[in-house]
Amino acid sequence: MTFDNARGRSTPGRPPRTHPNVSGTPSVVQSLRAHSGAAVPFSVEFNPPRDAAAEARLWRAVRQFERMHPAFVSMTYGAGGSTRDRTVRVTGELAQETTLLPVAHLTAVEHSLGELRSLVGSYADSGIRNILVLRGDPPGDPLGEWQQHPEGVAYAEELVRIVRDLGDFHVGVASFPQGHHRSPDLDSDTAFLAAKLRAGAEYSITQMFFDVEHYLRLRDRIAKFDPIEGAKPIIPELMPITSLRTVARAEELCGRALPAAVLDRLNKAAGDAPDDNQAAVREVGIEIATEMAQRLIDEGAPCLHFITLNFAKATTEVLTNLGYGVTAAPISA
Ligand code: FAD
Repeated sequence: MTFDNARGRSTPGRPPRTHPNVSGTPSVVQSLRAHSGAAVPFSVEFNPPRDAAAEARLWRAVRQFERMHPAFVSMTYGAGGSTRDRTVRVTGELAQETTLLPVAHLTAVEHSLGELRSLVGSYADSGIRNILVLRGDPPGDPLGEWQQHPEGVAYAEELVRIVRDLGDFHVGVASFPQGHHRSPDLDSDTAFLAAKLRAGAEYSITQMFFDVEHYLRLRDRIAKFDPIEGAKPIIPELMPITSLRTVARAEELCGRALPAAVLDRLNKAAGDAPDDNQAAVREVGIEIATEMAQRLIDEGAPCLHFITLNFAKATTEVLTNLGYGVTAAPISA
């Protein structure tokens, strides 16, 4: 089956439409090069807003980060109906109404090939050229059983090829410092990452981690397995912990418990009265993220990618601690 327009409608016998209208926008790798100077580039991840209030909060963070010149910003993707439409619209607005370079996450969950092509078409129509291709997690329970859509793809590798075939897109993929939770072992995890890169991905962004050694070992593993693919940027993802609630969120997102040493520091700051000691917990969380970021810089990471949960303050504090000359707007959250 082939598709004849930006929305991906099927027309038997016609070649798939490609989307050349996005050329001219830099790729993530080009942007990393352009932003590499005295300081290692940084980038941030946003989440789709669920309602109008959340959208207003997102835009406050967007405008604050815009003044700080990240190399790129990424927008996560959830398969659910109305959030999905808002995600596509807001990601398009990032391309059209800001100076930022947006990367749209695209997941295969609950989507047929036609729907995936249509989504890529929508992104292309709003000027988005950079796509982070992911398989996605089962909605509701990230650790639940993965169900392939009957007309969809089984693995991200396949989707990388499809997006590349659709036009002039630049593709990144996910990598996993401790291995993906479904991978039988680290060797096969490394082989699957190499396959995604070989399929045409230009870089990977890691799952968040709290022990820099895990990132360094991933980098060594892929370089040893495939020196060519292993030379592509592996962008480490960091999440500054700002509360004990964020600890739970971090563990849910990465599907693993935080290292004991990190938990000990946070619990010590919380003491017997976590409600009274929230500022102390936050301070330690920012300190941990700063230490990790500094180590990553020292180890030659190509970029620091921050999970922001749509707030600018914590990331700004970490960057300030690292000596970045950030000139943020007055920060409200
Ligand atoms: P894949 O690369 O397809 O891997 C999935 C599993 O299959 C792995 O265990 C892998 O080892 C295995 N595998 C891969 N290829 C093969 C093969 N050929 N044969 C057998 N096994 C194979 N989720 C969202 O829903 N929305 C988001 O916006 C989102 N953003 C993310 C951003 C980052 C930086 C990261 C790290 C993750 C993100 N995720 C997101 C989560 C991600 O979708 C899940 O971790 C998902 O379970 C794996 O996605 P993947 O693209 O790595 O899948």
